[in-house]
Amino acid sequence: MADCIFCRIVNKEIPSKIVYEDENVIAFDDINPQAPVHTLVVPKKHINTIMELEDYEVVSNVFKAIKKVAEIKNIDKDGFRVVVNHLSKGGQSVFHLHFHVLGGRQMLWPPG
Ligand code: 5GP
Ligand code: ZN
Repeated sequence: MADCIFCRIVNKEIPSKIVYEDENVIAFDDINPQAPVHTLVVPKKHINTIMELEDYEVVSNVFKAIKKVAEIKNIDKDGFRVVVNHLSKGGQSVFHLHFHVLGGRQMLWPPG
């Protein structure tokens, strides 16, 4: 989608700090990090929200990439959090499905 910021990152029209990439998924550091490690794992295929997800292979590809990101960022042993925000009450601001990987400090629960 031409007016989607994450599609533009996927297409390298906007620069990002890429952590991991394969044919299905790109992972890059969040521009406004909420933790010492804050990487976004994004399926290359444009899907607006989790409720529009139909192809569950996307999830499998994303979770393979999340494990790789955790190893690359060296948070796989200490622990980390994976978050998907959905619509306004979930705090979604970019309407291209993405998974936040947060780590490098103690995560608090509930998140607020
Ligand atoms: P959401 O609020 O939709 O769950 O998460 C969107 C995330 O994307 C936010 O944490 C925000 O900081 C990040 N973000 C928005 N625009 C950009 C961008 O152009 N580059 C990067 N790297 N992150 C972005
Ligand atoms: Zn998109």
